[in-house]
Parts: sequence; structure tokens; C-alpha cells
Amino acid sequence: MTRKQRRIYRNAARLLQNSTPLRADCGALCDRACCRGDEETGMLLFPGETTPFRVVAQNGRRVAVCGGQCDRSDRPLSCRLFPFLPVPTDDGTISVRLDMRGQGVCPLVRLEKEAAFSHRFLHRVRRAGQQLLRDSETRAFLWSLRREAETCEEMRRLLFEK
Ligand code: SF4
Ligand code: SF4
Repeated sequence: MTRKQRRIYRNAARLLQNSTPLRADCGALCDRACCRGDEETGMLLFPGETTPFRVVAQNGRRVAVCGGQCDRSDRPLSCRLFPFLPVPTDDGTISVRLDMRGQGVCPLVRLEKEAAFSHRFLHRVRRAGQQLLRDSETRAFLWSLRREAETCEEMRRLLFEK
């Protein structure tokens, strides 16, 4: 991890330390579904991102395996952003979208139209994304997440829309 990346991750983590997608605890809706992985599943780490959790390689990427328990301040950035993604746009800004990769896990992704999302959280996800745009590696990583989320969205359309 470069010094610049360390600074970016620190700023992004601070922005998202106490904000949550809903004003209430969304974990009560789903019994914390996004934290119930097994010994091999976990949260994707950003380039060079460090974590106290065990790290495994998956498809050429690093994933933090937490066992479903963490100190809030240790959460990887992916956990802090979920179920949203700060999506880079062609004009160099950030758009905040639900992360369609989470549609099989998170009820908020499935109930997009009904959920009363916290504006504060969305604003902070955008600001975290703006931080991540400052570095070429983290910017490229955001673009790869955008492409994956779009592929998931396209699959959903093909499967469920008539
Ligand atoms: S799966 Fe979605 S609703 Fe459930 S705790 Fe995670 S972010 Fe909240
Ligand atoms: S690190 Fe914490 S927030 Fe992230 S999946 Fe594990 S228990 Fe959930």
C-alpha cells in the first residue's frame, strides 16, 4: 500500500465509521446476512488495503475472512460501503448505486424502491468514492467493480424481466 492509498483508506473509513444505510439497524431485517460467510467467503479488499482478518486469494483478488464478527473500526472498506457502490462515471465524478452483486444476500438491494435510505450515508459513500478516485489503482478498482455490478444487473434483467 502506498502512502497515498493509506491516506485515502483512512479518510474513507472515517467517513463511513458511524453511518449506516438506514437510520435504523438494517441487520435486524436479515439477521446480518452480509456478515454470515463461511471459512472461505468474505469481503473484497481494495488494492493494498490492510486488515486484521485472515486474507485468502479468490480469482486473483484478496478477500478478508472475518468469521462473522468484528470490531466496527476494523471493517474493510467493502463492508462500510455495502450495499452501495461509489461508481465512477465517464465525466470523472461519482454516482452512488446499489451494489447489484449483493442482490442474493441483501434485502435492501431487492427492496430498493421501498427502503428509506439514509441521505447522510449516501452522501458519505459519494465522498468516499471521491477519495478513491484520487489514486490510479483504486480508481481502476472502482471501474472493475462497476463492470461487475453491471454484469450482475444485466443477468438479473435476463432472468427476471419479461
Ligand atoms: S445484508 Fe443488507 S440489510 Fe442485511 S445487514 Fe447487510 S447491508 Fe443490512
Ligand atoms: S468484517 Fe464485520 S461488517 Fe464485515 S462481514 Fe465481517 S462481521 Fe460483517
